[in-house]
Amino acid sequence: MCDESLSFTDRLADQKLACELIVRRLRIPYVFQAVRSLTVEELREMHRCIHQGEGPPSGPSPRIQSIPNNRASMVYLSAFASLYLKASALDNRQSVDAKAVIAAWDLFHERYPHALRFRRPFTKIRPANITEAWVLAQALRCGLAHLRHCPDCHGEYLVIEDCKLPPVCQYCALGFAKRRGASFSMGDDVVELPVLDSELPQTAGDVAPADDEMAA
Ligand SMILES: [Zn+2]
Repeated sequence: MCDESLSFTDRLADQKLACELIVRRLRIPYVFQAVRSLTVEELREMHRCIHQGEGPPSGPSPRIQSIPNNRASMVYLSAFASLYLKASALDNRQSVDAKAVIAAWDLFHERYPHALRFRRPFTKIRPANITEAWVLAQALRCGLAHLRHCPDCHGEYLVIEDCKLPPVCQYCALGFAKRRGASFSMGDDVVELPVLDSELPQTAGDVAPADDEMAA
């Protein structure tokens, strides 16, 4: 429902936020959650204007439990979750902080520009797009996902409720902390992850294949 009582300035801010989310190709139902003065049809039209006539993607939204497709992807998701929570100024656990998603996504995407994917096959670098980033932010807000401190590597690792991966620090489970020394903290230093990436095992055999995809 659009809020008719919003001031002109608030409506402008709303449109700017919608533009920023649509430019990054966030799915329209999530953009709609972030705004107060625009309808779904107006957002769809905005998408067509911004993306040269291309209609917004349809189909089911990703489930948080289906996003991590192996242990390595969980290491990247942990890094994104950490970036998002540090960027967010909101205490409200019911809504996603759209500006924090944008800030965290831009940092993450800048670091892994070649990992951007809108269709399968996805790489092990997740979130693969801003919609997955939004779904993760939503899960963090509603308690479906949370970060825990790892006493071994001193980083933070992501735990997702009802996920097929065990709730352990996957960075340590993959043996990286042992190789790099117990004081190394992945959670605070995303810069180290590209190095990590080149060392990750190429097989997807560390967990059962996900229902949606295989690791690239
Ligand atoms: Zn650890």
